[in-house]
Amino acid sequence: MTNSTGLMLVICAPSGTGKSTLIRRLTNEFSNFTFSISCTTRPPRPGEQNGQEYHFLSQEDFCARRDADFFAEWAEVHGNFYGTPRQATEDALAAGRDIVFDIDVQGARQLRASMNRGCFVFIFPPSRTELVNRLTGRGTENAATVAKRLAGAKKEITASQNFDHWIVNDNLHTAYDQLRAIYLAEKTRPCYNAAWASALRDQWEVT
Ligand code: ADP
Ligand code: 5GP
Repeated sequence: MTNSTGLMLVICAPSGTGKSTLIRRLTNEFSNFTFSISCTTRPPRPGEQNGQEYHFLSQEDFCARRDADFFAEWAEVHGNFYGTPRQATEDALAAGRDIVFDIDVQGARQLRASMNRGCFVFIFPPSRTELVNRLTGRGTENAATVAKRLAGAKKEITASQNFDHWIVNDNLHTAYDQLRAIYLAEKTRPCYNAAWASALRDQWEVT
């Protein structure tokens, strides 16, 4: 996962902050982006389709894959298992595609430890009250699940110090502008510009 030309953009935020909304915008605007489809033992929400938002697995199937080193990272979040398939990630990066991850802070820590680059972005809700509003307003969670996700939010925010960039998702347009600016700036790093480096060698004999 270290010698490829694709960019790994890792996005973390407390559940309900708006990361899926922001990621959807990014993948719609930039066709070179692949969304990393995770595996999960969580049941699908209404409208979610297997293989689109997630690969929905039984706990038994998830654990068998985990034990076979199928995942680049995995974690238990809010009582369910989630993991990033290793091969799909490596294939996308090797093909020069950029890949965006919607994972929790435990998974981000594992990816950070196992690779020597990547861009790690933490997104905050503007306030605790607004996070509750968004979690309940989405209409996908019952009261017990909302409580579990709020408890998880503190853990996520505590880990935000280890990230490269911070965005507060108050106004969606502003937050999206910041995210796309981070992505575009990150893409100017020499390591993501192999074709230009090769042109330099040809034209200027720079080694
Ligand atoms: P996450 O993926 O982080 O769990 P979602 O993207 O599903 O969060 O967003 C949670 C809810 O908040 C959705 O109903 C979404 O439309 C809404 N939302 C996202 N960003 C904003 C924003 N800046 N202002 C108001 N509502 C937002
Ligand atoms: P949700 O159930 O709301 O889709 O996701 C719950 C949490 O699990 C979110 O914080 C999300 O980022 C995280 N998550 C989703 N996929 C993965 C994954 O593959 N690995 C890890 N570590 N976390 C994930």
